[in-house]
Amino acid sequence: MAKYAPSGKAGAMGIVLPFALGIAGAAIAGAAFHFVGRYFYLIILFPLLWGMGVGFAAAAGVKAGKCRNSMIAAAAGVLSAVRSYGVYQYLDNRHIKSVFLEAYAKEVKADPGDPALSAIYDDFLKERHGGTGFKAELDVRAQMGMNISRSGSGSSRDKKPMITGTGMYVYWIIELAIIAGMSFLFPLAAARECFCEKCLEWYEKQEIAGVAGAGIEGARKALAAKNYAGISAFISRDRSAGALGFEKCPKSCDSDIRVKLETVTKDKKGKEARVAVYDEMVSAADAHAIGAAAAAPLSAPPQGFTGAGPAAP
Ligand SMILES: [Zn+2]
Repeated sequence: MAKYAPSGKAGAMGIVLPFALGIAGAAIAGAAFHFVGRYFYLIILFPLLWGMGVGFAAAAGVKAGKCRNSMIAAAAGVLSAVRSYGVYQYLDNRHIKSVFLEAYAKEVKADPGDPALSAIYDDFLKERHGGTGFKAELDVRAQMGMNISRSGSGSSRDKKPMITGTGMYVYWIIELAIIAGMSFLFPLAAARECFCEKCLEWYEKQEIAGVAGAGIEGARKALAAKNYAGISAFISRDRSAGALGFEKCPKSCDSDIRVKLETVTKDKKGKEARVAVYDEMVSAADAHAIGAAAAAPLSAPPQGFTGAGPAAP
């Protein structure tokens, strides 16, 4: 008996796909939060959702590429988060530039589409921020600052901004850290899922029986003692307090099978939480014995049933 440990292997696709899907998701998420952010932006919540989106994309790459390497998976998540934040900041910079030039064109009664106006923004950047490009454009926005309850990146600011300058950079670093934190956890968890190294397939989950709340400790002891027949006593049709499940190769080869005994609790909102009290890789033969012991009480006829067929007429 042993805990499952990933092999750390990743083929060519296992390296390429986590990054490819992560980066693709990063571009979509960065653009989406920029456009939504023009109208409203919720601090903490948006970066969390953002990180989940990017992480979900990178994790899909881990699954599709069959990557069992935690370092590659985590790196794909973090790099995608940085990429996504870069896309977002770039679009925000561009948006502020167009807001600036529109206002300027109005003032001098010029055509806002005049390409010569772009040079005016560059002159403004050089004069106030010592250069042009991404960093100088970021500086403009840092100086504009924001209110914690900001209503949108391009809105007029009647109120005095709460954060400006260096504070904005600190805010951006924290925001990026939240996104990166979420985006690396998902692909990391995906790479640590059970995998059959013989058949090169991810394991499939299968819940085989319920365990009544009072029986969980007994079932855990029976599993730990390899007294598989003894598990029968704790099996229940009710799965609301505890569950016994397998994770196994979809090809049904002779690879070890992951056996999990979990307690199941529900919070007030009905959200289910599971905690594994037993989680081990066992041989296919042992898992078969566990499965048979768990199936016996469930297939037994209900009490009072005699087993006799209908009386002959
Ligand atoms: Zn297999």
